[in-house]
Amino acid sequence: MENRVAGDDRLHVMRNAQGYHRAIAAVAVAEGEVLAPFGARETRDVPNYLTVQTGPDAHILLAPEHLQYINHSCDPNVFFDTARMEIRALHPIAPGDEITFFYPSTEWSMDRAFACSCASRDCLGQVAGADQLDARSLARHRFNGHILDELAERIATVAA
Ligand SMILES: [Zn+2]
Repeated sequence: MENRVAGDDRLHVMRNAQGYHRAIAAVAVAEGEVLAPFGARETRDVPNYLTVQTGPDAHILLAPEHLQYINHSCDPNVFFDTARMEIRALHPIAPGDEITFFYPSTEWSMDRAFACSCASRDCLGQVAGADQLDARSLARHRFNGHILDELAERIATVAA
């Protein structure tokens, strides 16, 4: 049993009896369409379990706050575009679908690694930031500019 506890007309945040939150689409969203714009309530220079990384030393607390309940999946249906500050659909989304994103698409080194149980065929198992991904996972997903910059820097360091 889940109850709606937050959200807006496009996204509902549901909470179950165990206190687990999920963000559920309230509308259909086409591939490439913006589900929601986002902003920063606060910017910090170190990550915590609620922040989204937007630059080398920038970690934001999301505005509106209910967007923080968008969970990780290794087979995500949205992308947090930190240059445009927009959440975009990677695939067509139907009302009732859980909204998920791939945390390493924004996070280089996460504050807390966790065991993923998303049950996707390509589940990472342990999610710990883009710096821990293998080449196969890097090739499968879309990443923000600050993550691509870190990867390019690492390749340059290895090559030097
Ligand atoms: Zn997973």
